[in-house]
Order: sequence, then structure tokens, then C-alpha cells
Amino acid sequence: MLFCPNMKLIMVAQFADGSKRMDMVHVRCKQWSCPYCAPANARTWKDYILKRLSREDFSGKSWVFVTITAHEDSHKISPQATLRNLQRGWGKLYHRLKTFNGGKAFDYIRVFEKHENGKYGGYHMHLIMSIGDAFALKKDEFAQVLEREKTARKQGKRPRKRLKREKHPARWIKDACRACRMGYEADMKQIGSVTTKVASYMTKYISKQLEILEFPPRMRRIQASVRFGSPKRRKTGNARHWMPRSAIYKTDLEDYDLIFDMTRKHVISEDDFPDGVLWYPKELK
Ligand SMILES: [Zn+2]
Repeated sequence: MLFCPNMKLIMVAQFADGSKRMDMVHVRCKQWSCPYCAPANARTWKDYILKRLSREDFSGKSWVFVTITAHEDSHKISPQATLRNLQRGWGKLYHRLKTFNGGKAFDYIRVFEKHENGKYGGYHMHLIMSIGDAFALKKDEFAQVLEREKTARKQGKRPRKRLKREKHPARWIKDACRACRMGYEADMKQIGSVTTKVASYMTKYISKQLEILEFPPRMRRIQASVRFGSPKRRKTGNARHWMPRSAIYKTDLEDYDLIFDMTRKHVISEDDFPDGVLWYPKELK
């Protein structure tokens, strides 16, 4: 598939310096349910994640990976209900995790994935979150508490009443998911700070099951913290003015020295106008 089947439109730009060159791009629908756009979206996000994680402000951070399921009641309603449940739950969970992180805002990338369990199937979400340092610290603290308790017991002291309130950080997050009315946290890993490893945790889910993904339009399948950002749209602020157009015509070849299809990385020539076809790309009409 060479371009998006849902958008039969191209955009063209000429150069302000008066050179006789024209660039064109295929407009795409960008929906995750589109067989062309889903892999294109995935590629864009993968490139962005890797690039962003390697930049200075992110390179030292330590990350935790977690998979969270929707509340079992939402599975009885519809797949959309599981999405709503997760979205709402994540808003609440974020604030709890901020407290967990010593009151400091943290960064995250979240991706929704569909599964076929249950009557209707539903969504779950995978996240990486830059709370690795807080997680490691709490894990150490918890180990120390257990150690102290063991020593105390050996010395014949009674167990402390407060011990029940002490939690391993993984347990803490599991309980927090539940308290935010979601399902259970299903999987959790400390992934450290090696950029390629951190990125791989997200990119493997981003490319999974693209062909069969039914995803509601106007909903973001992938979302990241504001500071992490998202892939930018094509830059149009470079003195070039992009205009919609229905096609490139054979007569355009006479008016321009160079016509370039940026989507296909292809210089348009006479060969693109076989007998009887006077527009490019011929699939457009
Ligand atoms: Zn599309």
C-alpha cells in the first residue's frame, strides 16, 4: 500500500524563491484503524520515542514499566467502556503516583492495546513512567523494614502493629490502581535508564496487532506527558505554503523543472503518466 486509502487528496508546495520546483505529499487520515496509517503512525511514534529519550533532559531518568487492566465491570458493558474506565482511572492514578514520587511531577508514555478476553473484549494500557528512582528507594526502605522486624523478632520483641501498613512499592501501585477503580496492575518491571531498552518496552506494543486494531476515531491511542511531547506535524513554517490539490497533471511537467513526491520519495517524470492517464498518482481517481 503506497498511501492512505481513506484520503484522496494531496498537498503541494512551491518555493518562495521562485524556483521551478514543486513538492507534494499524500494527505493521510492518521487513524489507527487504517491499514496504511496505523504502521505509519507506529513508525512516527517509534522514531520520536527513541529520539526524545536520548536527549539530555531524559537520558538519565530511570523508568518503570506497568500494564494496567480495566475494571471488570467495564468489561461487561463494551470495549469503549474499558477505554473510558482506563482514561478516568489514569487521571486519578497519576496524582497518587506523583505523591509516590515525592510530590514531583514525572513523565510517562501510555499506549492502549485491545485484547479479546471476556464477552466483548476490551482495552488495557501499557505505561512507562519515570518513577524508577522513587521505586528503587521505596523497595530499599521496605527491605530495611522487614530486616529490622526480623531482628526484633529474633530478640523476642512483639511485631510492630504498623508493619501491616508498610508495602512493597509494587504492591502499593497494585492497590493504587484498584483504589482508582481500575482493574489490577498485571505486570510490572523496573527497566532502568538504558535508552534503547526503555524505548523497546513501548515500541513493541506500538507495532503490535495494528491490522486488527479497532480504535475509536478522535481518541489518542498513544499519549505522553506534556514534557515528553508527541511527534510534530510536518513543519510548514519554512516560507512554503502548502495547498490542497486533487492530483499532479501531466501538463505540470512543462511548468516545473522538478516535481517531487515526498511521501514516496519519488521524482515525478513522464513515466508516471502512461498512455491515457493524465494525472498522478493514477490511483487517486
Ligand atoms: Zn489512513
